[in-house]
Amino acid sequence: MAEKPNQKSQLPRPNLWGGLLFVLVLIVVAIVAIPDFISSSQVVTWQTFERDILSKGAVEKIVVVNKETAQVYLKEEFKNDSSFTDVFKSPLWGTNHGPHYAFNIGSVESFERKLEEAEQHYSPEDRVSVSYVEQNNFGNLISWLIPLVIIFFLFRLVFQARGGGGTSIFNFGRSTARLLEQDQKSPVTFDVVAGLEEAKQEVKEIVDFLKDPERYTKLGAKIPKGVIIVGPPGTGKTLLAKAVAGEARVPFFSLSGSEFVEMFVGVGASRVRDLFKRAKEKAPCIVFIDEIDAVGRSRGRNAMYTGANDERESTLNQLLTEMDGFGTNTGVIVLAATNRADILDPALLRPGRFDRHIYLELPNQKEREEIFEVHLRPLVLAESVDTDFLAAQTPGFSGADIANICNEAALIAARHRKEKVEKQDFLDAIDRIVAGIEKKSKIISAAEKKIIAYHEAGHAIVSWFLDAVDPLVKVSIIPRGKSLGASWYLPEERQIKTLTQLTQRLSASLAGRAAEEIIFGEVSSGALDDLEKVTKEAYAMVAYYGFDAKIGNVSFFDSTGRTETGLQKPYSEDTGRLIDEEVRKLVEECYQRAIEVLTQHKQELIALAELLLQKEVIFKEQIEKVLGKRASAESAKLAVVKP
Ligand code: ADP
Ligand code: ZN
Repeated sequence: MAEKPNQKSQLPRPNLWGGLLFVLVLIVVAIVAIPDFISSSQVVTWQTFERDILSKGAVEKIVVVNKETAQVYLKEEFKNDSSFTDVFKSPLWGTNHGPHYAFNIGSVESFERKLEEAEQHYSPEDRVSVSYVEQNNFGNLISWLIPLVIIFFLFRLVFQARGGGGTSIFNFGRSTARLLEQDQKSPVTFDVVAGLEEAKQEVKEIVDFLKDPERYTKLGAKIPKGVIIVGPPGTGKTLLAKAVAGEARVPFFSLSGSEFVEMFVGVGASRVRDLFKRAKEKAPCIVFIDEIDAVGRSRGRNAMYTGANDERESTLNQLLTEMDGFGTNTGVIVLAATNRADILDPALLRPGRFDRHIYLELPNQKEREEIFEVHLRPLVLAESVDTDFLAAQTPGFSGADIANICNEAALIAARHRKEKVEKQDFLDAIDRIVAGIEKKSKIISAAEKKIIAYHEAGHAIVSWFLDAVDPLVKVSIIPRGKSLGASWYLPEERQIKTLTQLTQRLSASLAGRAAEEIIFGEVSSGALDDLEKVTKEAYAMVAYYGFDAKIGNVSFFDSTGRTETGLQKPYSEDTGRLIDEEVRKLVEECYQRAIEVLTQHKQELIALAELLLQKEVIFKEQIEKVLGKRASAESAKLAVVKP
């Protein structure tokens, strides 16, 4: 799709004035500089002057300029004196009529005293006449004129270079929104938006209004001015907004919230103003602001660090003013997207502004299937590929992830010079997106490999025997991305997690380290990622989910994000210490559980690790051969009392 920058290009103005000005300035400089240049007098010291010039009686007069410089004029008759021919020569043409010499006098008093001393034996008529004048110092003039001229020309240069540009410093107040005209129909329609049924329903009303406003206005209905789409990254917020524009066939302005807030102070507000001005000219149309949280963060948050926020605040205020300002039925509809509605300024969400909220969520299995269908359309597929299977393999994936997988699978197939994209290509693509690219070339010593194998086998064993942990799919000790080994789980889709599930997962995460301790009697740094995850989760369990008996059913989670800075803790010092204590206790308990399970199944642990060392990757079926079938989660749930 061709996006057309909608900036009226300014024709560069003929450079006539610039040229004229330049010549003029040159002339002025010349006039000022030349006389000074012509009468260039030789600078001498008082001693030379007294000994070589004054004593010869060659001095006609002395003019003291600005009580500072003595200018010495020689008598005409000395023109042919060999010692003075130089100074009588003008650098340009003719004779130099003086001043011929110049020297600094120090102070007027000392000059007069010295002169009197030097002339004490002269007869009065031979004494040199001295006059005092005040003069504008041309040299000075030039010394500040030249930089001025240079600056002036630099400015002109900048002007011209940026004349037609997009974000020049001279049109930075213009909005940077890109406009998609209605004739360049947006290729995105509701067809390519899979799932999101409720959201589509909601925005269809907007499409209807844009197509046929009268149907609504006739009845006195007011159409919402603003719709805010909230959802995790990659869930199709932008896609939905584009589809609205594509279906309604109206111009579509799109820009990101961060474009309002740039390096220049005051730019944001004027960009907002400009955006709405342009939008009104094109009405009916859609304005789409991505990542509106960049401007729309609630005012007064992080009040401690304000200053930088003033700019954002004034931008936000302008946005609010504009949204209040245009009438309900002017036909400009503002769509905005954000990952975090919780941090938006409440003022934005009030009626008359963004009064419709659409929440998008990560797709469920059926929706993922539909999204796969959309993105598989352009691919040449082998028979083996079925969307049902793919959707089952990708819990927690967003629409963008799925689009990515489809493309990645096609790339992998092409790399292997296949005719069609096969199921295995999709599985490889999924692995790659989950865990990064395989790095078989990474050099790992045999000893390290052994540690990694036992570490991963530890994860596998504990997650196998603790039945509330997500089912294990495969284990690998091929380095991928940043990690040296990995275990793949197939998370079940759940909205809530129980205490059992969470604690067992902690045990499974700690099992890598536990296995190292049991087998080698020593731990390694390979557990860093595990420990990080465990720590975060344990703190969440204690401080957020109210899972700890001592802390009780309190949660220090703040959904408004107002204490995000972490500087003010919403609990007392004592509670803070208790939380730390309880977290450590919880982690220790879970670790002991892992040790317990591994000691009990030490033979299997060794068998699995050796198998891993041999095969590098092992799948669920092979694991089953070593460990036996896994107890089903359903029956296990009844058996488990407390982890
Ligand atoms: P967001 O704006 O929410 O971060 P996008 O709308 O930019 O996400 O989505 C990125 C890409 O993911 C889209 O271009 C599209 O290819 C794909 N995608 C996301 N959601 C869907 C969906 N529901 N149906 C089809 N494709 C989707
Ligand atoms: Zn690990």
